[in-house]
Amino acid sequence: MTSDSTCIFCKIIAGDIPANFVHRDEDVVAITDVNPQAPQHVLVMPVRHIPTFADFVGFEKPELITKVFSVAGQLSRELSANGSRAVINTGPEGGQTVDHLHVHVLAGRQMHWPPG
Ligand code: 5GP
Ligand code: ZN
Repeated sequence: MTSDSTCIFCKIIAGDIPANFVHRDEDVVAITDVNPQAPQHVLVMPVRHIPTFADFVGFEKPELITKVFSVAGQLSRELSANGSRAVINTGPEGGQTVDHLHVHVLAGRQMHWPPG
């Protein structure tokens, strides 16, 4: 499946729902989170609909993993020189609410551990 018509992030990527894009190429997009949990909060995701991080296992295009992390790392660098946090919520117990794989990149405040 490359796109899911019921998926909110696929709709954003298709332009059916507005979003603030901070990165866009043929394989990866990044948008600002509509409900930010830090002064900077972006979501980095593959254009292709991959439901969860666990679905990356055995994925036939492993270079896409590198591309998603490369964009997330670049944005981490750009958002703050003082550090940041990258998070991938996975599945119900992982707190994932949108089933289109995405990396949260948060910056601009002191982070704490353990996460809730
Ligand atoms: P999850 O809970 O799946 O790890 O993260 C989903 C994230 O998507 C949440 O932080 C939520 O605020 C964000 N989100 C949900 N709907 C929208 C939307 O329509 N636009 C944007 N920009 N972010 C959204
Ligand atoms: Zn999707």
